[in-house]
Amino acid sequence: MTHSLALISDALHVIFHLPVIVVAIVVAYLLRKNYNQHKLESWGTGIIATMILGTSVWIIVAACYRFSNAYIVQTATMLVVAIIGLIGNFVQLKILKDKDNHSTTHSLINWHFLFDLISSVVLIMAAVIIQFFHGSPIIDPIASIIIAICMALLPIQSLWNLIFKKEITHHH
Ligand SMILES: [Zn+2]
Repeated sequence: MTHSLALISDALHVIFHLPVIVVAIVVAYLLRKNYNQHKLESWGTGIIATMILGTSVWIIVAACYRFSNAYIVQTATMLVVAIIGLIGNFVQLKILKDKDNHSTTHSLINWHFLFDLISSVVLIMAAVIIQFFHGSPIIDPIASIIIAICMALLPIQSLWNLIFKKEITHHH
């Protein structure tokens, strides 16, 4: 039970996508209104990079918890969570794609969603391997931690640039 709770809390981070998307849409709207562009984009990137980084940390914590409880395997729960996550991410990626203005904030979110998608696919594969090929249940938390670390790279780089280089790269 605790194992599937950790798994579900990991998947529940998709709810945290909503405030991130709201902030991104507000920033994109204000940028179109042509307020202080550079300052606004710096603030937007800082806030969104921090929020996105927070979800990576959340995933790592949930995966560590699963790692310590890995002997209890519930492949059915894994499959359900992965498939719901996959559908949820496809929908959110589609919503964001329509609003995409190629800003730094959108690159950060797209990057995160890409790894969410990879994560759902890996979770499905892990469930199949554990169920049908008697694979070790630690495959799933190990894969989750690796994916979450990759996921954290772009927000860390953005924050680093923001703090130490006082500029952000953008694709205008
Ligand atoms: Zn996510």
